[in-house]
Amino acid sequence: MNAPLNTPPEPSGPEPSGSGKPCLTLMIAAPRGFCAGVDRAIEIVERAIERYGAPVYVRHEIVHNRYVVDSLKAQGAIFVKELDDVPDEAPVVFSAHGVPKSVPAEAERRNMLYVDATCPLVSKVHRQAERQIEKGQHILFIGHAGHPEVIGTMGQVPEGQITLVETVEDVATLELPQTDNLSYLTQTTLSVDDTEEVITALTERFPQIVGPKAEDICYATSNRQSAVKIIAPASDLVLVVGAPNSSNSLRLVEVSERLGTPAKLIQRAADIDPAWLDGVGTLGLTAGASAPEMLVREVVAKLAEWRNVSEETVTAAEEKMVFKLPRQLTE
Ligand code: SF4
Repeated sequence: MNAPLNTPPEPSGPEPSGSGKPCLTLMIAAPRGFCAGVDRAIEIVERAIERYGAPVYVRHEIVHNRYVVDSLKAQGAIFVKELDDVPDEAPVVFSAHGVPKSVPAEAERRNMLYVDATCPLVSKVHRQAERQIEKGQHILFIGHAGHPEVIGTMGQVPEGQITLVETVEDVATLELPQTDNLSYLTQTTLSVDDTEEVITALTERFPQIVGPKAEDICYATSNRQSAVKIIAPASDLVLVVGAPNSSNSLRLVEVSERLGTPAKLIQRAADIDPAWLDGVGTLGLTAGASAPEMLVREVVAKLAEWRNVSEETVTAAEEKMVFKLPRQLTE
């Protein structure tokens, strides 16, 4: 349970400034927050509402962020779990995480108007999976059970031809229908370091296994992790703005903790317990790929109520990626 938010933290550690508030150095990671796939998915829903009129149905959270979902709801989106919850005549958008092949097939069978907001980098993994199956390979898919992207990617190939691997420990106990023609793929939002370990374990157990030419972990996931690797060692605590079901946000918390710096996942500034700041002179701040910058600024404003904040941005990489919208929304 969080402490009341209007309680200022006990001044401790850093020297009080002229304003009487203790000082706080804020190391803000860059890049952080929205990636090109999230930007595109949100724009798809907004354009679909503009073009087809409200309501537009969205299967699953378009991206894992409550603030984003609520603001799209206010514009006329209706979020549902399954296609069964969508009337035949209503337009429907599939989320950025991707969907199993059975979903567009069902939409086509029902003659529905659908727009696929699957991130192009997830679609790339789907195509790789198809190619590996064409080559007769059994796929080992590295990912987290139950995540929508994992369900979507595993649903690209016939059942029984893909096996989920979550951890290094899983590798030792794998029982496969074949071991002579294996390949692997990964979820796009994994920990770069954990995935490397799982791939190493797979390669040791199955020396013939083949992987994709370029890694599947996306640029946004790896850049955000690289930035945390810079700010965490210099910080007493790291705050990650993101949702508890956001894979890439959870990985940012783990990256910081692995470097020995405690980290907290928060959805909004209101989640910050002022007691967390006791003894903290330098605070790291980042945001997962589905968290809007507005929420980061909200956190900075909240911290400034309690501390004399000096901001420093630490840049690990420049991002210029932009994805095209589906043609049906631009023509
Ligand atoms: Fe695409 Fe990566 Fe963003 Fe996911 S995190 S939507 S894979 S760019």
